[in-house]
Amino acid sequence: MNLPIYMDNHSTTQVDPRVVEEMIPYFTAHFGNAASRNHSFGWDADKAVEVGRERLAKIIHADPKEIIFTSGATESNNLALKGVVEMYAEKGNHIITQVTEHRSVLDTSKRLEKSGINVTYLPVDRDGLVDPEDVRDAITDRTVLISVMLVNNEIGVIQPVEEIGKIAKEKGVLFHCDATQGIGKVKVDVQSMGIDLLSFTAHKLYGPKGTGALYVRRKSPRVRLAPMMDGGGHERGMRSGTLNVPGIVGFGKACEIAMEVMEEESARLLYLRERLRKGMMDSLESVYLNGHPTRRMPGNLNLSFAYVEGESMLMGLKEIALSSGSACTSATLEPSYVLQALGISGELAHSSVRFGLGRFNTEEEVDYVIGRVIETVNRLREMSPLYEMVKEGINLKDVTWGKH
Ligand code: PMP
Repeated sequence: MNLPIYMDNHSTTQVDPRVVEEMIPYFTAHFGNAASRNHSFGWDADKAVEVGRERLAKIIHADPKEIIFTSGATESNNLALKGVVEMYAEKGNHIITQVTEHRSVLDTSKRLEKSGINVTYLPVDRDGLVDPEDVRDAITDRTVLISVMLVNNEIGVIQPVEEIGKIAKEKGVLFHCDATQGIGKVKVDVQSMGIDLLSFTAHKLYGPKGTGALYVRRKSPRVRLAPMMDGGGHERGMRSGTLNVPGIVGFGKACEIAMEVMEEESARLLYLRERLRKGMMDSLESVYLNGHPTRRMPGNLNLSFAYVEGESMLMGLKEIALSSGSACTSATLEPSYVLQALGISGELAHSSVRFGLGRFNTEEEVDYVIGRVIETVNRLREMSPLYEMVKEGINLKDVTWGKH
């Protein structure tokens, strides 16, 4: 087993060697611009892009013509929300989203609010799930878009996208889904899920960084988008800019591999995740699971270790790449807005750690992590006066803290 161990696969993934191999010729021999129509360099590049487009379409059950290449899911989310709002301004000025979306949806929504768009931010329950009936209730005759993610990037919960898609269809409102964390991990079908726009990105499924896509439905209904990028009119005018040919080749290969291995890989990751969870929870008390226990993607485990700061834990686990539930925003260390939206207290949110298992993790690594986490949590708790008080039977809620 080699150190350090990478267990932060929601942040990004290692590029699969088979993906790298397929990309390399597109940096060297086939370096052409896919928009060059007059020579074989261009034709070769264009052919490769079209293969990539087909592979992306296949993994979400779409038509290749419905795939627009972008620089990543951040751009795809921006294009979906801003593009729809601008294009459908005459129909209405209201969009619906929910509080645990990725920042690229939430911050885009906030910007749209500044330009006069009304945004409804739906709540989630204690498990992190949106109630589809809340979506139905929020729709007005001015609603132009619903945007709800498939899989949450912190707690891995899978939103009831199919139900929301049905409601959207019934009411004739467009439905965008940020499926960035779900593609290649859970089955996605834009037809049966009633999705009109879908964002995804290569680097979350063992492909390269900086290559994303937006699925834009072409039939029933045909979705129209105002472009965010003006220029050469690439990607059917929706996203100008020279295509990232090696990136697209890699994205396509990553999708192809994911489709082949998804079932087996999901089962393996679920086994590893449960081993990891049980290994830690059986030996440590006051450890809490964040997010729905079963309705979550297989590789995700998000736990709060009471009386221990997540950041301190990670400092003590330097040879293991994990993520804490505190985001360093400017000068303050704020607990995750996702965990807070579930009603989890600030203390427990600060005590949270996200374990993101992926294709290249092994059972040996899982066992190593279990041992090191137990050791670290015990050591930190031994140094914690709060934990000492709890051990003595004092209920911390009853304590009146003095001021100095
Ligand atoms: N949406 C979700 C749910 C994500 O997890 C991420 C990446 N953390 C993004 C969007 C942004 O993707 P990209 O890095 O490709 O811009």
